Amino acid sequence: MFQNIKELLDFCEEKKIQLVDFKVIDLAGRWHHLTIPMERFNEKTLKNGIGFDGSSYGFLSVEKSDMVFIPDIASAFIDPFAELPTLTMIGDIYLTGEEKLRFEGDPRYIAEKTEKYLLELGIADQNLLGPEFEFYILDHISFKNSPNHTEVFIDSAQAEWSAEKKEEKNLGYKVMHHKGYHADIPYDVSFNLRNKMVRALEDNGVPIKYHHSENGGPGQVEIEVSFGPLKEMADRTMKLKYIVKNMALGNGKTVTFMPKPFFGEAGSGMHVHMQLFKDGKPLFFDKDGYSGLSDIALYAIGGVLKHSPALMAFTNPSTNSYKRLVPGYEAPVSICFATANRSSVVRIPGYATSPEAKRFEFRPSDATSNPYLAYAALMMAAIDGIQNKINPQDEGFGPYDVNIYALSDEEKEKIKGLPNSLEEAAQALEADHDFLLAGGVFSKGLIQDQLRRIRRDEVQVSIVPHPLEYKMYY
Ligand code: GLU
Ligand code: MG
Ligand code: MG
Repeated sequence: MFQNIKELLDFCEEKKIQLVDFKVIDLAGRWHHLTIPMERFNEKTLKNGIGFDGSSYGFLSVEKSDMVFIPDIASAFIDPFAELPTLTMIGDIYLTGEEKLRFEGDPRYIAEKTEKYLLELGIADQNLLGPEFEFYILDHISFKNSPNHTEVFIDSAQAEWSAEKKEEKNLGYKVMHHKGYHADIPYDVSFNLRNKMVRALEDNGVPIKYHHSENGGPGQVEIEVSFGPLKEMADRTMKLKYIVKNMALGNGKTVTFMPKPFFGEAGSGMHVHMQLFKDGKPLFFDKDGYSGLSDIALYAIGGVLKHSPALMAFTNPSTNSYKRLVPGYEAPVSICFATANRSSVVRIPGYATSPEAKRFEFRPSDATSNPYLAYAALMMAAIDGIQNKINPQDEGFGPYDVNIYALSDEEKEKIKGLPNSLEEAAQALEADHDFLLAGGVFSKGLIQDQLRRIRRDEVQVSIVPHPLEYKMYY
């Protein structure tokens, strides 16, 4: 971590840095980048920043599209994939003009404002988030476009769908479908690649809890990150996706975080664990509460559940997100909470029993989200629950310590379901977003931009003939 430009420049000299690269997040949660030679990098770069066209990043809510990003020196790291020694920094987005005003819709600024709001309200002085990343590692993907439809071909080391490759592969060691969870080598085909990914993550400031082969398969894996505070965790999330994808490419593989790449296989979630602390004490523990949870924890859960349909516009912002949220694959479908129940929106891990480990897990989210916005929205829902003492029991959110997929239709009807589509999530956000605007954390413009963006995706997908339609209607 660098505190000032001098420290940073000394470091660049020591490491013989030749280029400086800047990453700036767009609304959809992707990094864009721009690179300058080390000779052009100086104090002025940090003071004046670098101009860019914000409308190409999806930020349309400001009148003029000209924006400036200013590199955050605290975020600097050496890019492990650049061939020449390159220092990378994440940029914060500002408006143009003498005043150097921060852009209210900058996702990183929204994450920063959320943590400040939590502190100002006196609720907590420390927050920890623990996201889990599920994704598929595949051999190959190609698209064949024709005027009428797009065919997608995907190969995976051991998968049924890699038909052409079958001849060349040794199929003796093959995990069975839905049986990949914690599979050991030789069945765990990406073990060595994941080891390399995890080493690169550790070496670049992303501490990892563990990694393993996941249920869906073959090809699904999971990497869990050690807990950290909100904005820092969103930075780490971006780094994780960057490192994982580039490491896969360097090893002839491809990675997808798509929530549901294959029908009939497990989808990939990005569950987020949440904890709050004050004066060094965990706020979520009470030995006499339901599942060892304090009132504050229950209220936070109440807020998250109450606002979950609107949250989805940030935590599940792709059309594909809703193909994952179906019964039978350990993905959540019902707006309720429970202990150790994977079909509920909020799960309280049964094995986390000590005061310091007490937490809850939000299960709907997936990695097509912009992590700054997803984590900030989640925290704002929890804050609203705490501020307004939203008791999840009184609201009819459970606890439901039963397998919800297996309930009778009559019983299931009593539990509210999550939005079924991106449009339903957009409608929910339209109807319920005051909790996000509280404390000036989210801006109206950003919410408008997000609604416009996800509705455009929904329309694009809805006008393309679907392969299944040929079977049904040809
Ligand atoms: N893959 C499941 C999902 O879609 C989750 C499995 C798990 O609980 O680890 O969320
Ligand atoms: Mg998992
Ligand atoms: Mg989990």
